[in-house]
Amino acid sequence: MPDHGRVPWGYFDHAATSPLRPEVQLCLQEALQGGRGWGNPSSAHQSGRSASRAIEEARERVAAGLGGDPRRLTFYSGATEANHAGLTALAQWADQQSNKVILSSPLEHPSVLGVLRRLESQGYRIHWADLDDHGRVVSDVTDMVTSIRPAFLVCMAANNETGVVQPWRRWADVGEAAGCPIHVDATQWWGKWSDKDDLPALGNWVISGHKRGGLSGAGAMHSTGIPLEGWLGDGPQERGRRGGTENLLGVISLGEVSRLNTGIDPEWTRLLQTAWEEVPGIRFTGRPEERLPTHLHLRLPVRADLVLQRLDLEGFSVSTGSACASGSLQPSRVLLAMGWSEDEARRALRISTGWTNSHEDVTALAALLPRLLEELTAL
Ligand code: PMP
Repeated sequence: MPDHGRVPWGYFDHAATSPLRPEVQLCLQEALQGGRGWGNPSSAHQSGRSASRAIEEARERVAAGLGGDPRRLTFYSGATEANHAGLTALAQWADQQSNKVILSSPLEHPSVLGVLRRLESQGYRIHWADLDDHGRVVSDVTDMVTSIRPAFLVCMAANNETGVVQPWRRWADVGEAAGCPIHVDATQWWGKWSDKDDLPALGNWVISGHKRGGLSGAGAMHSTGIPLEGWLGDGPQERGRRGGTENLLGVISLGEVSRLNTGIDPEWTRLLQTAWEEVPGIRFTGRPEERLPTHLHLRLPVRADLVLQRLDLEGFSVSTGSACASGSLQPSRVLLAMGWSEDEARRALRISTGWTNSHEDVTALAALLPRLLEELTAL
């Protein structure tokens, strides 16, 4: 086995990115040593053909993991690009139907919201579904589809900040019955909720490799019923659906992670929640049965960035719900859309687990956080 480098101890930020899994590292080294890891898949000679075979093998593996059809799977440079490509294709299709109405929610990832905002400035009308304060879409999709008659729907599978699972399945069914495709960003959900994804019969399903221990810069979209041709020019790659030489190693890593057991143990977040249930001032977002088993999202009695820094000093990596923009802490717009105040949003902490975690680092974190909170609230 090659040297995989240090497996990070105390790493609780798998929702941001999950470290490269040793099995994937091994698979990539074998591909490189065997000459399958560098060719241009469009070349007609031997190296090109072996690269092209590696891409098609990965496509079969990813599609099999999704329970989908390899012919409907397109590789992109990650979920951000797949979201852009999928929504742009849906918007073009909607324009051809002379219907520029879209139904979505303010929970979506910035890579989706950015496209929706652009479409809005081009004359599309976006209807935003309502949320509760646990970050779940609560508007009744049947009522909304009947009253606003959208061309298509956009509903993420699980939110990246809170881990709360969304009613995308119901949206997909209601949409299908009304002839409306759906775009589902399943980046956080993939491999965490069930073994096989239950793909929408009409629409797009987006995934990304690095959230599951593959290389970053590689993602895919399974798409049914929507023409995707011509994204990034007229290159022949990906059956004309996406121009540009394929990210061969990234795609190979995506194929490898999709056949690995995800290494997720729901016990870790359960253990943390039980340990912190009685800690004064902590409030958990979402009920465990409607949250990804890898996510724990909390509101703390003190500012989360202070806790993050203290945890970092002790060797634990977590994430806050705030983004640092030009030196000031901007509260998460998702939490504000859920009805949280700016002060509450600045007290949000996300802990996300994955294949590197163990009983030792989980129990150490369980004991450390209450101690830090006690110290910080006494200041
Ligand atoms: N959608 C969601 C829900 C995500 O969490 C992320 C990653 N933060 C993305 C899209 C973008 O994925 P990528 O890094 O592969 O572009």
